[in-house]
Amino acid sequence: EHENSYKQQQPSPRYNGRDVAIVLAHSFGAKTLLGSATPSIESFSNAKNNKYGYIELKERYSNTGFPEIVTVDLKEERKHKRLKEEFSELLLEEIGKVLERKKQIIIFQNRRGYTPLWMCNDCSWTAQCNHCNVNLTYHKKTHQLICHYCNTHYVPESRCRACGSNNVRMLGLGTEKIEETLELFFPNAKTGRMDLDTMRSKNAYRKIIDDFENGHIDILIGTQMVTKGLDFSNVSLVAIPSADSILHYPEFRAHEKAFQMFTQVTGRAGRKHEAGKVIIQTNDVKHPVLEFIKAHDFEHFYTRELIERKKFFYPPYSRLIYIELSHVHEQTVEQASQELAQTLKTKLQKRLLGPEKPLINKINNKFLMCMTIKLEKTNSFNDMKHFIAQSIDDFRMFSHFKAVRIIVDVDPL
Ligand SMILES: [Zn+2]
Ligand SMILES: [Zn+2]
Ligand SMILES: [Zn+2]
Repeated sequence: EHENSYKQQQPSPRYNGRDVAIVLAHSFGAKTLLGSATPSIESFSNAKNNKYGYIELKERYSNTGFPEIVTVDLKEERKHKRLKEEFSELLLEEIGKVLERKKQIIIFQNRRGYTPLWMCNDCSWTAQCNHCNVNLTYHKKTHQLICHYCNTHYVPESRCRACGSNNVRMLGLGTEKIEETLELFFPNAKTGRMDLDTMRSKNAYRKIIDDFENGHIDILIGTQMVTKGLDFSNVSLVAIPSADSILHYPEFRAHEKAFQMFTQVTGRAGRKHEAGKVIIQTNDVKHPVLEFIKAHDFEHFYTRELIERKKFFYPPYSRLIYIELSHVHEQTVEQASQELAQTLKTKLQKRLLGPEKPLINKINNKFLMCMTIKLEKTNSFNDMKHFIAQSIDDFRMFSHFKAVRIIVDVDPL
């Protein structure tokens, strides 16, 4: 139900498989069954408003209790110098205990590679891609800096390109570094890594899951791949060494996505015979999402999230249309987006936000500009939608900016 990969992002047609299923079922008079432990705010709101029927599972499958969830305050740990390579004493201790009991561990970190930054200590310069406005990720095994957007590989430079200093270092925590660190701390434990880099060959996915299931791997480290519905019977500890980037992603769905991701990965702990334990390390222990996760409280998370959505007029209270323009020249795409926005605003007025530079405003040598339109879910919706479509068609035909690429995403995720 909530699964992001149901949404087709690129190329068009941009649609959500879930929504298509509902429409299709409706036109054939069939019923649709949506299943999720972490429904999207939109679907849950439809259930609450009796647009959908609703059945709640009050007990966990096979009656195991919910895992105990502990947060570790990274700020405190750092202050008291209790961090070893970003691992708290508590986490290392718990890993040790679990290994002694011959149980298994899952470590979830949503960054692949060794470190997400290659940075100058003196002037804060970071190595960036020549083709994208993106920091390069250091991959230690191949000793390369790689752009995760256009996949260009670079040889790491030991001198800072901005100030010439030799004081360049790696910063941050990727799955590759976690694996290396844990092998250092627990030399007798067998580790396995599940991310895009290790899953390239055809059978790699099946193999690592079999190995983990059969106990050939003690610690499984991975990106979001490890959160997706896998059911291992011997896992008694799940750890998230760094929750912050997920909690503070700058978009309105950040809290919803964080709640879903953490709940999904948390659910990997203790599936069959014991409840299991989850350790989440963060600089923001008081973050509301973590409070709800700890309490296993979807209902209140949902209520709070709805208040926020209402206040800022986001879905499910409105519908969004996202427009992105791209071109090889920055000035051209900026002018084009200003002109298109001006036309759209004649009717949309304050419903249009932007144009603005997206967080990553250059990918593959193309500069990007974006705007977001918030529409009321009233009868005016179709009228507005047709106006937007017509304006964009006209813009493509008659403006000076025919070479500017425009993509439109209705109900973006
Ligand atoms: Zn790039
Ligand atoms: Zn420098
Ligand atoms: Zn936040």
